[in-house]
Amino acid sequence: MVFIEDVLSADYTGKTVTLRGFANSVRKGKNNIFIMLRDPTGIIQCVSHSGEAPFEEADRITRESSLEVEGTVRQDQRAEGGYELSISRIKIFGIAEPFPLKSGHNKVFLFDNRHLWFRSIRVTSVMKVRSTVFESIHSFFRENGFYEIQSPSFVGSSVEGGATLFSVDYFGRKAFLTQSWQLYAEAMVNSLWKIYTVAPSFRAEKSRTWRHLTEFWHAEAEVAFAGNDDIMDIEEKLIKYIIKGVLEKNRRELQVLKRDTTVLENTLRTPFPRMRYEEVIDLANKNGLKLDYGADLGSDEERVITSKLDVPIFSVNYPKKLKPFYHKPDPNDPSHVLCNDLLAPEGYGEIIGAGQRIDDKDTLIDRIKEEGLNQKDYEWYIDLRRYGSIPHSGFGLGVDRLVMWICKLPHIAYAVPFPRTMRRLFP
Ligand code: ATP
Ligand code: MG
Repeated sequence: MVFIEDVLSADYTGKTVTLRGFANSVRKGKNNIFIMLRDPTGIIQCVSHSGEAPFEEADRITRESSLEVEGTVRQDQRAEGGYELSISRIKIFGIAEPFPLKSGHNKVFLFDNRHLWFRSIRVTSVMKVRSTVFESIHSFFRENGFYEIQSPSFVGSSVEGGATLFSVDYFGRKAFLTQSWQLYAEAMVNSLWKIYTVAPSFRAEKSRTWRHLTEFWHAEAEVAFAGNDDIMDIEEKLIKYIIKGVLEKNRRELQVLKRDTTVLENTLRTPFPRMRYEEVIDLANKNGLKLDYGADLGSDEERVITSKLDVPIFSVNYPKKLKPFYHKPDPNDPSHVLCNDLLAPEGYGEIIGAGQRIDDKDTLIDRIKEEGLNQKDYEWYIDLRRYGSIPHSGFGLGVDRLVMWICKLPHIAYAVPFPRTMRRLFP
């Protein structure tokens, strides 16, 4: 089967081809009907002339009707893409009713009609980039000796704190949807040493920001005998690997999205600076914020901090109270933890949360108590420190956030096929 991109890129001039697709637009004149045919690879102008056999069929075609056309390829400078198909035969799969989407709709209307909007060239382009991102994540880990392994989505206790837990009725008991695979990863890392997963995580995010979903795709890794610096090395290599893949495979999509790729190219070339939390606070205040030492960094703060950057930065060693219980205290300064957030430039902020895990049993129990968690729920996790504990670190990459940055989208919902947010459960 021939695709539109083949016809537009190779020399099919004079040849007869059969293409399938949807009518992206239809222009009807007295003597000619122009159908812009769209398939997953591109758009080509198809023309039917009056007096020729398929003209009556062509006249039935409405916008978004689905069809198969056979025709001869002609070079035509006036046509978008430089080629035109003179139609000799049409087979109609489905005539579309008047299509509800037109240009100029607001965001809410478009997301209400995501099932139809999904066909647009912009959405399709984002999804192709997204596909490359997922492909690259898997190939990076597999090329680097990681095992892919899964953890449950139904869990009995929280990882990232209770505030964003989704509870579900589990045969009369209370269960939760997982916020991260991490606790399970720490059990599995003891046998497999280098592991990763790509799976949805769930968080009942009540703060509606441009970067929070309630269900998001999480690429997580855990590595035995790795410290905070080692895990940053892996994160940096992964991000560079993914961006290289997109730049190689998705030039056309990035063009459709009008994405200036300067920053992406710079990201490939430049080592990611590692800044301590207090330096990041200084940077924020130099950019006009008034943050106290100890302030948490959220969407708004990170937007300001990263808006002028042209490469991601690591923000490392946060005060203990800003991070979940499992982070290892810095031996040189136990009020801080050995953690890192990777902040994307151009205003996007955190795309990875990472760090070294507590490997000492007593420290862990202290932190669980300090956070007011129920120690009983975590006994199995504490066991991992009772029986031959090892140093280990890991990270969680928000894949949808990465896609949002790579495509430079205004909101995370645009990066996801069917986004789930506090307000959106349909379609
Ligand atoms: P934030 O501070 O932005 O709420 P977080 O620090 O709670 O994020 P982590 O627990 O570190 O997030 O999760 C690891 C990664 O997962 C984050 O760096 C981010 O890329 C992604 N992530 C976390 N929460 C969400 C969400 N609600 N929607 C989309 N991605 C998310
Ligand atoms: Mg984080």
